[in-house]
Amino acid sequence: MEIFDMREFDGHELVVFGHDATTGLRAIIAIHSTALGPAAGGCRMWPYESTAEALADVLRLSRGMSYKNAMAELPFGGGKAVIIGESRKAKTPELFEAYGRFVDSLGGRYITAEDVGTTMSDMSNVRRATRFVSGLGAAPGQAGGDPGPKTALGVFLGIKAAVKFKLGRSDLAGVTVAVQGVGGVGYHLCGMLAAEGARLSVADVRPAALTRVCEELRAHPVSVDEVLSLDVDVLSPCALGAILSTQSIARLRARIIAGAANNQLAQGQDGVALQTAGILYAPDYVINAGGIISVSREFHGGASEAQVIADIQGIPARLTEIFERARRENRTTNAVADEMARERLARRPQQLVA
Ligand code: NAD
Repeated sequence: MEIFDMREFDGHELVVFGHDATTGLRAIIAIHSTALGPAAGGCRMWPYESTAEALADVLRLSRGMSYKNAMAELPFGGGKAVIIGESRKAKTPELFEAYGRFVDSLGGRYITAEDVGTTMSDMSNVRRATRFVSGLGAAPGQAGGDPGPKTALGVFLGIKAAVKFKLGRSDLAGVTVAVQGVGGVGYHLCGMLAAEGARLSVADVRPAALTRVCEELRAHPVSVDEVLSLDVDVLSPCALGAILSTQSIARLRARIIAGAANNQLAQGQDGVALQTAGILYAPDYVINAGGIISVSREFHGGASEAQVIADIQGIPARLTEIFERARRENRTTNAVADEMARERLARRPQQLVA
């Protein structure tokens, strides 16, 4: 495997493979950049079919974390970890403790947290072996805990900013939103959208997750095939990445795409197809930064829940700046966001940290 020649390789500082024979741990940590501080990003557990697939994912995700942390003005660089395995079957406390030792071996260059397939409880097992972990439980009123609801808040505020920009509306009453994936983030997002009068269509591969949101919020269930091509104001991808490709974009009928999933564009140039189709795309790593904002405040300690929420309230203004610049310069929103993130990465950290 020629890592340096991989399409996903982007000058990453460090890529390390971790193995523990006793627990069966097979993990990869990728540090994309520590220019703005120690690399921070979650740990994904996923049954990758090959090491190459896991490696491509961790390279892509860690670069996304550099951009996300830079755009959220956090004093962190970008990193990510993947554990190869089926999260519903292969989890043990010992496996996460072994993963914690792997994280600890990097001496603080990488700080981990939960992501798809891992939970707060897994992170408490990681904590037994390293202090370089966040996203643990938080005392009432204190920053931290499960990042999912904080991510949902940022996405909700981002959807409002996109609706205002594209549709000229300041409220969500009657606005139609299709949510793909109603798990940790999607469920909380649906709650906020429903409370403001949005009309929801939802899809999930897990029937239990779908039933919960339909019963509690009177959302309309649709199939996982159908959800991407609904004629709605907003499509909110909150499942997995790479769902916006040449094939899927041709079927889209939404006016806005604004969701939590990481790496929604299969390739950067897919942003051009969205722009051509007149669809406003909220760059994923800008709109979904609420969770890392919470994780970051928790890691540093001493912050309140109210401070985290105040930080998350900066997301819509950042998005509006991107939307306006893209319109002014006739460029895609993802190209504008990437450029802004790279500019921030090139600056010295002191200029970013308040
Ligand atoms: P989750 O695993 O709790 O929820 C994802 C949901 O999507 C699950 O209910 C799953 O069944 C469903 N799903 C999977 N494939 C699907 C498909 N093809 N169609 C419809 N539904 C499908 O994950 P989450 O924490 O809610 O995160 C959702 C997305 O947001 C992920 O891409 C994640 O990387 C991203 N994200 C999450 C956070 C966070 O704080 N949790 C932060 C930033 C980004």
